[in-house]
Amino acid sequence: MFTLAIHPAWPGIRSGVCLILLLCAGFLHAAQPAPASWFPDAPTFRHYIWAVQPCPGCTALDAQPRWTRMALRAGLSEVHFKRAPDESGGQAYSVAPNVVVLSPSALQLAGCQLAFLIGHEIVHIAQRHFDEDAIALSVYSGKPAYWTRHGEDAMQLADGNFGLALKLSPLWQQQEREADWLGTLLAAQVCGCSLEDGALAYFRHDEQSGGGIAAAHAPATERIRQLLPFTESARRLMALAPLR
Ligand SMILES: [Zn+2]
Repeated sequence: MFTLAIHPAWPGIRSGVCLILLLCAGFLHAAQPAPASWFPDAPTFRHYIWAVQPCPGCTALDAQPRWTRMALRAGLSEVHFKRAPDESGGQAYSVAPNVVVLSPSALQLAGCQLAFLIGHEIVHIAQRHFDEDAIALSVYSGKPAYWTRHGEDAMQLADGNFGLALKLSPLWQQQEREADWLGTLLAAQVCGCSLEDGALAYFRHDEQSGGGIAAAHAPATERIRQLLPFTESARRLMALAPLR
């Protein structure tokens, strides 16, 4: 198991609101739908194989049509959703290669905040941040990028290795910025959510979150500041949203 996005992979040094668990099965690379014109192309680096990992107590969630439409706009034909039994994994996280897990409290969020949260996780999957991490961990460890075909092998390089976490921290924060702004735009185009009603309202719940040594996430106040330039882009895409 490996955490990418928001919760601590190394207890006490990473914090935030969602996380990516980099778990999963060998990924079949089926043809994917074309993403929205503004959405970045999928990465071309090689796919690692991710073993199936349990999600204790999780139950399947029927995807709401808007969740599926956000995935399609990100170029993904298939994303699976699960409900976590509690808040122990954070409010939302992604599991490689294509699972989003939501906590009970996440499912109680206002519509646009939940749309942002799901959009954020979909971006991690679409941009294959878990494969990117596996490559980075390998290279920073002095190994060839593809010394193993299995993602877990690469992720285990980070176990207990604080120095490696420090090296990866800038990459994690870059991935979070990408997930924040692209997730905001997915929520705008598909769900008609403004930046204010989605990401900003979500981060204002806890402006003290994030930050710290080797953190995957910048403080919430910094994430808000980084999103403000996308206010107008979100507003324009909102005009394309179906009537709610
Ligand atoms: Zn994230």
